[in-house]
Amino acid sequence: DGVLIGELPRPCRMMLLVNPQSGKGQALTLYNNHIQCMLNETGVSHTLVITERQNHARELVREADLSQWDALVIMSGDGLLHEVINGLLERPDWEEAIQTPLGILPGGSGNGLAASIHHYSGASPVSSEDLLVSCGFLLCKRLVSHMDLVSVHLSSSPRLLSFLSLAWGFVADVDVESEKYRSVGAARFTVGTLVRLASLRVYKGRLAYLPATKDYQGGLRNNETLHCNNHTSSLSPASLQCQQSRDSPCQNTFHNSCHSNNSLKVRKKESTPSRNTTKAPPRPRDTLLLPLDQPLPSEWVVVQEEDFVLMLAMYQSHLAEDLLAAPDASLDDGVIHLFYVRAGISRTALLRLFLAMEKGTHLATNCQHLVYTKVRALRLEPSSPKGIITVDGEVVEYGPVQAEVHSGLTRLITG
Ligand code: ADP
Ligand code: MG
Repeated sequence: DGVLIGELPRPCRMMLLVNPQSGKGQALTLYNNHIQCMLNETGVSHTLVITERQNHARELVREADLSQWDALVIMSGDGLLHEVINGLLERPDWEEAIQTPLGILPGGSGNGLAASIHHYSGASPVSSEDLLVSCGFLLCKRLVSHMDLVSVHLSSSPRLLSFLSLAWGFVADVDVESEKYRSVGAARFTVGTLVRLASLRVYKGRLAYLPATKDYQGGLRNNETLHCNNHTSSLSPASLQCQQSRDSPCQNTFHNSCHSNNSLKVRKKESTPSRNTTKAPPRPRDTLLLPLDQPLPSEWVVVQEEDFVLMLAMYQSHLAEDLLAAPDASLDDGVIHLFYVRAGISRTALLRLFLAMEKGTHLATNCQHLVYTKVRALRLEPSSPKGIITVDGEVVEYGPVQAEVHSGLTRLITG
């Protein structure tokens, strides 16, 4: 799925950010057992960066010399990729930085994007370590595609970029409450769903959206390609060097590729090698959104109901390893797949929906309370005084929120 735009060079250099606390806390062991050899044997030289705390990856990516890397790869859950993408957004050169090819290896408990990429590859569903191995193989193929990003505005926080989901109500509550069940890995969402069902509640608010028109063709397809430029810089900054302990020395081909004179930027065909003279891509202005305190344009659809059980906006197929929430979605379809469930649904019906979501058949259950529509932008104004909103599974400021999709804004290694 998604339009392939090229291949990373051989050898290629990846910064591999591993969150040792992600998932059941075994990401480093999983890396050693499954990923290290695979990458080395296929000529992917990579520098292991072990994240030490929240926002560590965000800060590293904000300051990094991106000319030294062909790709930034995350081994964690979706939370760490969210940090990395927003770290790129915080750079003065973000329009260019956001086009750095990204990669994902599922090491967390919420691995929605990894599961989506696996799904798009056409392989039958797998989970846990099988999913990791599959994503490892896809990474080694180093084929790059465009991926949509969604710009998210909150009432007082800076703009965010989101790659997976925006949730309010039941799903957001489960996301957050299930953090305490992370020792069971991806099953935390199942446990969380059952717990939340017991205390099912109604969430009040106003929802509106701009429908995706049928003739919408997705974003620009510039004549893009990947190629090498000469690369003269020395080793990476100290802050990015391998932090593996002495007891288990790093066996990576640490920057061997620096000697091969390959620089590994993904560039447009017509652009010049210098970063300074490279023409910036068009800035993705949020042309569909008005300030949150202004009334919506007339072509927006306002949802009549104001009592909900959940709102879920998805831009990729999988919300988690075993939740095929948007079976129609593809990597760069330029569409937000908007779901909401109206209040009044029974616990049994809601449980049935989530069980069906494992196979992506929830839309075929004819649930009268579930609404699915494809949109390009949305606005949600919750009226309950307290609540949870998540973006890519991470909690954000609670209050009015609006979002707009940007087709193919970033690049992802999809294999
Ligand atoms: P999971 O799916 O297991 O929740 P995530 O990738 O979502 O995995 O990671 C959860 C959070 O852990 C992220 O917000 C990230 O900032 C944070 N994090 C990264 N490194 C560390 C660390 N060394 N210790 C604790 N938290 C970390
Ligand atoms: Mg997470």
